Amino acid sequence: SADKERANNVAKIKVVVRKRPLNKKEIAKKEEDIITIEPTSNALTVHETKLKVDLTEYVEKHEFVFDAVLNEDVSNDKVYSETVEPIVPLIFHRTKATCFAYGQTGKWFRCFEQIKITFSFSYYWSGKTYTMQPLPLKATQDILSLMHHTYWNQGFQLFVSFFEIYGGKLFDLLNDRKKLCMREDGKQQVCIVGLQEYRVSNVETIKEFIEKGNATRSTGTTGANEESSRSHAILQLCIKRSANGTESKPSRLVGKLSFIDLAGSERGADTTDNDKQTRMEGAEINKSLLALKECIRALDNDQGHIPFRGSKLTEVLRDSFVGDSRTVMISCISPSSGSCEHTLNTLRYADRVK
Ligand code: ADP
Ligand code: MG
Repeated sequence: SADKERANNVAKIKVVVRKRPLNKKEIAKKEEDIITIEPTSNALTVHETKLKVDLTEYVEKHEFVFDAVLNEDVSNDKVYSETVEPIVPLIFHRTKATCFAYGQTGKWFRCFEQIKITFSFSYYWSGKTYTMQPLPLKATQDILSLMHHTYWNQGFQLFVSFFEIYGGKLFDLLNDRKKLCMREDGKQQVCIVGLQEYRVSNVETIKEFIEKGNATRSTGTTGANEESSRSHAILQLCIKRSANGTESKPSRLVGKLSFIDLAGSERGADTTDNDKQTRMEGAEINKSLLALKECIRALDNDQGHIPFRGSKLTEVLRDSFVGDSRTVMISCISPSSGSCEHTLNTLRYADRVK
């Protein structure tokens, strides 16, 4: 059928890179834009300045090619149409799709801690949250529109849930950060016990849920954005359908679309920090990002065995990796010379996933 043909045309795995503009602080520090992009060939080059033994500078070029490379002037609408838009119709046909935002969050500097006022700032972020936040909203618009037109009166319903994984533990972002546990039934279905799911029947509702979840996310125990950079935030849109097309009967899951704002990739390197808590969280983030990469690579090679067990993140996503799945990785990068090393790390990760 036409639907099937369309599904076959949407790549199983797509890797997209988005470069953000230089920010004011970087411009003030006279940092240079070291990333050039060739949109027609989807090529990207990092111009790394290095020093010779005699301390003279030279530039080493690193070239990459991805499924799409998005320049700093590309809008969030264009990001949506390049990534999630083609997937949305598939989730009415049993597809489970996952969209990740990957990249550095930048060092947060804490000031005035000794006088009990903390003011944190950072400027080497990559724009993950900025990129991820509008996507579920736009997807909801398209899902509701399909439900009201193509699939009118067929018993489809849309639900949202929003939770985070912090230090290997799960917290409900739509229910006062209630701690959650995970259970698996014999049929490879993961179930997060107690996770609140809300019915969504208009765009206003989803907007409120996204805002509520994000507010809960960034006002943790220390109330700083510092925390959100160490957690993975997972927003899931589930399409369900009642057995005989009437709303009174219990509904079963049809398809799922997950949006994941991953912890700052550089946080995985915090494993040598002096603070024990920070070190443990760094190790956990490192483990989950490695496990994620392995799972996506296994998907790509159509291996029977997918190593979900590597981390909480991949275990939670287990049912999205089996069956008819789609994965989009959006790697966010900063253009500045000061972020060169992190940018190369991000691009190498994306390159391995591709
Ligand atoms: P991260 O989640 O990677 O730490 P954010 O997405 O929170 O970073 O971005 C930090 C700041 O930069 C925000 O104020 C955001 O609005 C802005 N920003 C990020 N990416 C872009 C972009 N591509 N264009 C314009 N502003 C951006
Ligand atoms: Mg963020």
